[in-house]
Amino acid sequence: MHKDLQEVLISTEELSAGIEKLGEKISADYEGRCLTLVGVLKGSVFFLTDLARRVTSDVRLDFMMLSSYSGERSTGVVRILLDLKESIEGSDVLIVEDIVDSGLTMSYMLQNLGTRRPRSLEVCTLLDKPSRRRAEVPIKYTGFTIPDKFVVGYGLDYNGIYRNLPYVGVLKREIIEGNKTCR
Ligand code: 5GP
Repeated sequence: MHKDLQEVLISTEELSAGIEKLGEKISADYEGRCLTLVGVLKGSVFFLTDLARRVTSDVRLDFMMLSSYSGERSTGVVRILLDLKESIEGSDVLIVEDIVDSGLTMSYMLQNLGTRRPRSLEVCTLLDKPSRRRAEVPIKYTGFTIPDKFVVGYGLDYNGIYRNLPYVGVLKREIIEGNKTCR
């Protein structure tokens, strides 16, 4: 385990098994259709690439980058930093997110992408932290439901660090208090 973590919450093996199950469900639900996976940068990239390889229907990938976080705290204000490259009008769209916490980011995305007239629009999140919800969001596919702890790894960062950890873990309090950065 990385020295800055207090515990590993979801191991590499558990991640792999959970994503395999999600892939099976999604493949069955979208069988014979072409699915647009919309990855939310940067946190969802590891999850998205592993998940996409478990989906047997035809898939295309597109990305959005949104911002509502600075360090550990949500500012509650969502901004689009990078928009989709392709039109989603008439498409089956599945938003792939690393974690739904307050739900503000996902609620904004659903509202925004919904206006572009997709054929269907659903949400798949690796992690769900339901105890902190401020906006109700319909999540169709959830990998793991977790307690109210600040987690890093497998795409999730703190000040841009720890995304490459092959598991999801809880950061030590002192690392957050010390505001660790990477230069
Ligand atoms: P929400 O808008 O649901 O509060 O937050 C969504 C975004 O906040 C996620 O995409 C993620 O970037 C960030 N976030 C929320 N909780 C955590 C957490 O426990 N760890 C990390 N690293 N990011 C989080």
